[in-house]
Amino acid sequence: PQSKLPNLGTTIFTQMSALAQQHQAINLSQGFPDFDGPRYLQERLAYHVAQGANQYAPMTGALALREAIADKTAELYDYRVNVDSDITVTAGATEALYAAITALVREGDEVICFDPSYDSYAPAVALSGGVVKRLALQPPHFRVDWQAFAGLLTERTRLVILNTPHNPSATVWRNDDFSALWQAIHDREIYVVSDEVYEHICFAREGHASVLTHPQLRERAIAVSSFGKTYHMTGWKIGYCVAPAAISAELRKVHQYLTFAVNTPAQLALADMLRAEPEHYRYLPEFYRQRRDVFINALSDSRLELLPCEGTYFLLADYSAISDLDDVSFCRWLTTDVGVAAIPLSVFCADPFPHKLIRLCFAKQESTLLAAAERLCKL
Ligand code: PMP
Ligand code: GLN
Repeated sequence: PQSKLPNLGTTIFTQMSALAQQHQAINLSQGFPDFDGPRYLQERLAYHVAQGANQYAPMTGALALREAIADKTAELYDYRVNVDSDITVTAGATEALYAAITALVREGDEVICFDPSYDSYAPAVALSGGVVKRLALQPPHFRVDWQAFAGLLTERTRLVILNTPHNPSATVWRNDDFSALWQAIHDREIYVVSDEVYEHICFAREGHASVLTHPQLRERAIAVSSFGKTYHMTGWKIGYCVAPAAISAELRKVHQYLTFAVNTPAQLALADMLRAEPEHYRYLPEFYRQRRDVFINALSDSRLELLPCEGTYFLLADYSAISDLDDVSFCRWLTTDVGVAAIPLSVFCADPFPHKLIRLCFAKQESTLLAAAERLCKL
């Protein structure tokens, strides 16, 4: 068939994980933990399966889970949302993002993304006939230049997609960024998708700034989250969106024909987990801070130059002192010859990305991180 996405190949995550497996490299490329999620959560899944909770969940999500999400949102962001109209449970954040973009973007609409940007946004925009306008962020801090942002706005701008804590740069937005965003868009009909899947993996002193704490912006926004990151179980593929009723209603029109509803017993298990062990997500920043610091310390003798890491479970490293290869070639060589798989940064950017940066995932056991660091220190 004539391709609707002619310039798109298989995702870098699939490619690099396959190459890592083929060469038995330590896989710090695709972002997933090499340790298991909470035993309690797994037990609750088995419990609900045994109880016969094995038929379709409500289209919008299991009530117990939506209630638990609403309580968490109220506790963390001081925002009480309506359980029936404002929360939609999805098949991972990936489905949430696709449904959100499909619901909001019309033929010819412009969508602003910040490059480097997560790889699933642009194809979804393209399939809706939208046009992506990109604002390139610069290392090491990847901050948004709000003047440059204002210059991208046109009559056709319909949506802004942001991500904080940010994959791949590991930087986070401040409340000031949300204020600046509101200033820039408040007098136009522009919506916001805020990808906050790493909301609980934030090391910044100020903590995670969510779009849901901004009283005006949240009226125009879809906040997206994922239990895969929070509970170390990326394979469960359950996420959710929080958005005002009118926006949620449009999103649900897409969701109901994309998946209709998602895994019932897993939703009920997640509801139990949120209720029984809120300390799990409260402790998550510390849990990942320790892993990050173990990895950074182990790399102190390496010729990689590490960039600041304020959130996510990714660390960026500049390899200019080691090689002249472009980042894609360097990552392939690192996997095949050194035995450590990483992700090149340029794949997240539409324009040429002149930096020599790779992304290393530290959601790994200490022994994995130390073994990878030993190999990297020899370079
Ligand atoms: N957004 C970002 C920024 C991500 O890093 C990921 C996955 N790593 C997703 C969305 C997708 O999340 P999920 O696995 O829940 O679909
Ligand atoms: N989001 C994960 C990452 O950034 C990968 C998810 C995927 O493979 N689709 O590594």
